[in-house]
Amino acid sequence: MICPKCKCQMNAIETDSFSALKCSGCAGIWFRDGSHELAKTIKGVREIDSNSDEAKATYNELRDIECPECHKKTTKMVDRTQLHIEFEACTYCKGVFFDSGEFKDLTEFTFVERIKQAVTTLKSNL
Ligand SMILES: [Zn+2]
Ligand SMILES: [Zn+2]
Repeated sequence: MICPKCKCQMNAIETDSFSALKCSGCAGIWFRDGSHELAKTIKGVREIDSNSDEAKATYNELRDIECPECHKKTTKMVDRTQLHIEFEACTYCKGVFFDSGEFKDLTEFTFVERIKQAVTTLKSNL
């Protein structure tokens, strides 16, 4: 598959739990069929993201892309828990594209949120 942002080859990330591809050029990650929702809950999953600031600076602004699988225009989305994370989603195949570092950002928030929720639950039980 070809990266919708930098046109480099995207390589499959080998995993049993979700289906994703990572770009060999800009290090963006494409999650098939909304599988980022599942992927972000998996321990250690952030390691798949390389967090290249250089690539992020170049490609984060590039929003007008086509879905690499169905070649329809993607829709700009904002993560509902982290409003600064913007990504591209295909409304046809439910695929999602994260720029380098964005997915890591998403998983880190989830981890912190989990701790906050645990603390809140603990306090309310006292
Ligand atoms: Zn790319
Ligand atoms: Zn699509």
